Amino acid sequence: MKVTVWNEYRHEKSEEHIRAVYPEGIHAQIASFLKENGFDVTTATLDEPEHGLTAEVLENTDVLIWWGHMAHGEVKDEIVEKVYERVMRGMGLVVLHSGHHSKIFKKLMGTSCNLKWHESEKERIWTIAPNHPIAKGVDETFTFPLEEMYGERFDIPEPEEVIFMSWFSGGYVFRSGCTFKRGLGKIFYFRPGHEAFPTYYDENVKKIIVNACNWACPVSFGGPLSAPCVAPLE
Ligand code: ZN
Repeated sequence: MKVTVWNEYRHEKSEEHIRAVYPEGIHAQIASFLKENGFDVTTATLDEPEHGLTAEVLENTDVLIWWGHMAHGEVKDEIVEKVYERVMRGMGLVVLHSGHHSKIFKKLMGTSCNLKWHESEKERIWTIAPNHPIAKGVDETFTFPLEEMYGERFDIPEPEEVIFMSWFSGGYVFRSGCTFKRGLGKIFYFRPGHEAFPTYYDENVKKIIVNACNWACPVSFGGPLSAPCVAPLE
């Protein structure tokens, strides 16, 4: 399976305390544990030509992982359109944390994807769909001493499945792991992963992202994806 990890890669370059957590960038940390799990992994970042997402790269991607935050507006609309079209044809998409406000996620959802937000506090995640493939081997509950708070209501369409729920020490709750299908593409949104915290080193988080790639990977299909005019079948 071919996975492309896309990261905006700005915080890590501009802020020392974030570089200390992810010296090579969030994408490099995610790529490293995906490689350990046997995936064929490449990375792409905002400041590369075409944001690293050329037609060739997208065509050779089974699952795209998306992390962005401060520069959603700099992602070119024509690249968003290409990613969207590729999802329609079956590419899996895993959207992480502040990617909830990325152009591609909002386009796929068709809603504002707004949420409540504030600075860090303790987060407890509950696995509420333990029989889902994305929850395989994940603890029933696990905590982060500090994560950024996202609270309901999260303005998304009704998810197909909600796999993880978060509780925050300040009293807010959040649907932290949601699945959707758009066209032939499978989409998973996963909440944790603020850039200032070592969330992508956590064993449960690593398992969830690995499982999500396996779940979102397209299956091969024996027929044409669309055929606007066909002859009657015999
Ligand atoms: Zn954040």
